[in-house]
Amino acid sequence: MAGKVYLIGAGPGDYKLLTLKALECLKQADVIVYDRLANEDYLKLAKEDCEYIDAGKASSQHTLPQEDINAVIASKALEGKIVARLKGGDPYVFGRGGEEGQYLRERGIAFEVIPGITSAIGGLCYAGIPITHRDYASSFHVITGHLKDKTKDEINWQALAQLKGTLVFLMGVANLEKITKNLIREGKSKDTPVALISWATRYNQSVVTGTLETIYEIALKEDVKPPTLIAIGEVVKLREELNFFEKKKLFGKTVLVTRTRSQSSQLVDGIREQGGRTIEFPMIQIQKIEDNKFLQEAIRSLKKYTYLIFTSQNAIEIFFEQLLKMELDARALAHLQIVAIGNATAKVLRERGIIADIVPEKAVAESLCEILQEKLTKEDYILLPNSSCARPYIKEVLGNLCEVDEIAVYHTLTAREMYDLKSDSVKSAKFKDQDLSREELIKLLEHKQLDYITFTSSSTINYFIEFIGNENKSLLENTKLISIGTITSDAIRSHGLEVHKEAEVPTIASMLESMYES
Ligand code: SAH
Repeated sequence: MAGKVYLIGAGPGDYKLLTLKALECLKQADVIVYDRLANEDYLKLAKEDCEYIDAGKASSQHTLPQEDINAVIASKALEGKIVARLKGGDPYVFGRGGEEGQYLRERGIAFEVIPGITSAIGGLCYAGIPITHRDYASSFHVITGHLKDKTKDEINWQALAQLKGTLVFLMGVANLEKITKNLIREGKSKDTPVALISWATRYNQSVVTGTLETIYEIALKEDVKPPTLIAIGEVVKLREELNFFEKKKLFGKTVLVTRTRSQSSQLVDGIREQGGRTIEFPMIQIQKIEDNKFLQEAIRSLKKYTYLIFTSQNAIEIFFEQLLKMELDARALAHLQIVAIGNATAKVLRERGIIADIVPEKAVAESLCEILQEKLTKEDYILLPNSSCARPYIKEVLGNLCEVDEIAVYHTLTAREMYDLKSDSVKSAKFKDQDLSREELIKLLEHKQLDYITFTSSSTINYFIEFIGNENKSLLENTKLISIGTITSDAIRSHGLEVHKEAEVPTIASMLESMYES
């Protein structure tokens, strides 16, 4: 089957400024070819086996020349693959999307374009600058500041200087002096307000303002670097009044989240919503036991069991996946008493159309056993799909009353175990689900670039210390440690570290709030 290329606008950087269409497409893509300006977090949306190609274009040094990008997207599509060509902003606004489209058309390769929010508009917006305004600007003009031929001028400065609308230059920092001088020379008032917006819509957005006359000196002093938008016009004055983004509670902050990815979405979402940057660094990883003969056998003989106990969401997912693989569904469980260890686990069962018969109030093995001890008889037979490193408690206690088949369906590996499993050559790489490698994490700590680390259980802090090594423990004094509750706080203190804030109530929402105030 013929493949297809989607030229996708990734928007200006804020994670949620992506279209639904782009989102869907990224989830389906076999290959993603992405630019430096596209938010890298989008790559996490892709399928497990998706291939990533970094076409990272820096302002003047292209990692991959355009011809190579064209060639690679075309050849992948010809292999029958769905190619997502992910570009910052909008693909047709100085994104060379037009050229890529033409190249594909010439070769008869199907393609589609998914527009994105261009930084020229969205970036200004997040700096508090509306690109038009009835009182100040009734048109806008988006201009390249990347002047191809240094000797010949392809821009009509005279015409530009006379325009009353907002001027936005992209890729213009290197030519800022030339741009401002030309506009003044051609008659634009030297007092025209100018804003330079770098990394617009990101946690590290920075904005400097001045006038056509002063902005170049200011940019030198502030060491303004690409990617930067140059906004010129009266609308820049509205920034003071309309700025909303930089006022967000976690704007400019970087938070390291130590939960597993599937559990951290509420926290990650909340941090992003408040303008912060999240780095996901789970301290454990769940590894499903593949081709699990024991589980297959247990499912084949489901009839002999009377109870099915789930002690985690992972066990439910793996169990049902295997059930389906064997062409069975929830009806195969109809004769069983189903037990969930707690409300969260019961909720996951509900989503699968099963209402647990027994859910202890306290989500611990002890409570579960207490309830079951009252009910079980010698004739009962329990199936318990579990983690390979679960405590033997349930099997030990209930095993005195009836038969229990405890079947390991997954391993729980700590970050340190994952790290130690790797050969020296791949230790510098980042592991699945972790946004950073160990080296990068330690570097961030050394350079005091992490504002907060969130710990949602005592094991996450213990694993964290184990992972970075005791010798690096003092680096945690460079950041603020946020704890979900008293037990976690005690664990942090037991390492000789200070808890910056403890959530008032042990919930994610409360954890988020504890970061706002500090
Ligand atoms: N297609 C993109 C523009 C690509 S050209 C779009 O529609 O936004 C690259 C230039 O865009 C950069 O040099 C910079 O001037 C601007 N740019 C893109 N994203 C930006 C961002 N988040 N912050 C500041 N400038 C950005």
